[in-house]
Amino acid sequence: MKIIFESCSENEAFARTVVASYMMRLNPTMEEIADVKTAVSEAVTNCIIHGYDGRDGDIEMECIIHNKEIEITIIDYGVGIPDIEKAMEPLYTTKPEWERSGMGFAFMEAFMDGLSVKSEAGKGTKVVLKKVIGQNNSIAC
Ligand code: ATP
Ligand code: MG
Repeated sequence: MKIIFESCSENEAFARTVVASYMMRLNPTMEEIADVKTAVSEAVTNCIIHGYDGRDGDIEMECIIHNKEIEITIIDYGVGIPDIEKAMEPLYTTKPEWERSGMGFAFMEAFMDGLSVKSEAGKGTKVVLKKVIGQNNSIAC
């Protein structure tokens, strides 16, 4: 499943709702849905606020299900991240004046089983989020 949407704050809610619907086939718990929605929100918000810095641009989101794992790729073609390691440190933000807390990547890491970030300055950023769904859910009778 792949969608391309415009970089604007309304589409952050749209993106997380699309992923929640898509993952329903995995029979997720409410907590698993909430975790994935939070991670997607953080990644899409980063594209809008940092990647495009309020300018127009396309955001791509691709979801793949392999057995019980959902893999979500979120791409922007914005400014890119010069130092990914630093950007991923908890509490690191380049927009403290906007009251950002620098916790977006930390939340993505905490709520998902896998997070990978690739970026090139001036070209854009690709975030891949992975989570196994239903690992601890009881088997339906
Ligand atoms: P918060 O998410 O808590 O509101 P934040 O967005 O600054 O604050 P993170 O989401 O952890 O914190 O991101 C850390 C930093 O990484 C950002 O401040 C920004 O400099 C950079 N960054 C993250 N995503 C992108 C992106 N898509 N394009 C460019 N820079 C990014
Ligand atoms: Mg953020």
